[in-house]
Amino acid sequence: MKFLYVFTIGCQMNTYDSDLFYRLLAPMGYVPADSPETADLVIANTCAIRAKAEDKAFSFIGRLQTIKAQRPDFHIGMAGCVAQQEGAKILARAPYVDFILGTHAIWRLPEIVETVVREGRRVVDVDMNEALPEARELTERPASGVSDFVTIMRGCDNFCTYCVVPYVRGREMSRPPEAIVEEVRRKVAAGVREITLLGQNVNSYGQKEGLPDFPELLRRVADVEGLLRLRFATSHPKDLSDDLIRAFSEIPQLCHHLHLPVQSGSTAVLARMNRKYSREHYLERIARLREVCPDIHLGTDIIVGFPGETPKDFEETLSLVETIRYDGVFAFAYSDRPNAKAAGFSDKVPEKEKRSRLATLLELQNGITREKNEACVGRVTDVLVEGKNPRRMEGRGDTAGGDRFTGRTQGNRVVHVLPAKGREISVGLCVEVRIDRALGHSLLATQVA
Ligand code: SF4
Repeated sequence: MKFLYVFTIGCQMNTYDSDLFYRLLAPMGYVPADSPETADLVIANTCAIRAKAEDKAFSFIGRLQTIKAQRPDFHIGMAGCVAQQEGAKILARAPYVDFILGTHAIWRLPEIVETVVREGRRVVDVDMNEALPEARELTERPASGVSDFVTIMRGCDNFCTYCVVPYVRGREMSRPPEAIVEEVRRKVAAGVREITLLGQNVNSYGQKEGLPDFPELLRRVADVEGLLRLRFATSHPKDLSDDLIRAFSEIPQLCHHLHLPVQSGSTAVLARMNRKYSREHYLERIARLREVCPDIHLGTDIIVGFPGETPKDFEETLSLVETIRYDGVFAFAYSDRPNAKAAGFSDKVPEKEKRSRLATLLELQNGITREKNEACVGRVTDVLVEGKNPRRMEGRGDTAGGDRFTGRTQGNRVVHVLPAKGREISVGLCVEVRIDRALGHSLLATQVA
């Protein structure tokens, strides 16, 4: 038996791929390790979307050098977008790394590990082969949670000027619906109750290949018996069709929650980002969503301080956030990424100004999140229970005390639930709760008797 540790940075696609690494290496005798120190093989699955994520990856593998110095049979691999982007350069920068696994080489991982471990050779595989590899039958890992991901497509054709994904993940390719439904079925049979379908732009699923469109795929997946909840990420606002919007009112399993990255509230900035929609188009799509599904919870991504963003552009972002009143916002200060077109734009916003705009935006959103959480108090809602809360919460505003379970609402809010007297709660159940109290980023609730 050998031990594998995967360190994951970045998006849910990487989380999904890290799970694939474990499953691909299981037939070679690898089982999960609790820490890098107890592993025989460590893979850092990296993200190139922001400079900070890339630094984190190099800092992580840097710390592995001491283990490698003590144990020559200890091996290190680097995977994901940084691996794809930097390729062999990583071996020069970090000579203790044994292999580089590009984003299109995932299915070749067992052969690569074999070469590294048995033959002692270093390997760089960053070939961007065009065909989507055959989905192989892999043993499902025992369900570690009630919520899991299924990738429905890879790559992206959109070329937003700040983003490296089309260069490091390649062009958009969709998996056949049968393979997706089968994977969902296997996960549900293993105990999963909530599935999130993943892709860089799920709205354009199947278009190139002439497959059924995304709303149809949602319908097929929702038909899998035992699946309680269905989500998806990420959606591009330019491709959010009326048919997809209607799916929120027609598919009972589809959670009333949508993450729709806006990136900026200024049409001028959106044009420089090559987002291919305007502020007005985005607001119209949100209005239509709320018409069809009035209780929809909305999240977004925003980049602050994109090159050329004026104070007036930034004001437009603030006013869009005030108008929409998102349930959650992921906001970041713009940073140059090698290979992304915007890295060559000249009118960069000074670092200090970016930080100050980011703080203003986060303060605005924190206030909105607080108000929205407080408005939940007294409401009755469904929570899918994901596990026991390992911590007592008395010190965090919990006056009722007791052991709580943690789960999520349809809107993706985290809720810590106290079982009703004489009732039991178990993981994987959807329970009705009444919200008692709003904390900073979560809610306290009691099961409805
Ligand atoms: S849609 Fe734009 S931001 Fe999203 S992955 Fe594609 S290029 Fe990157």
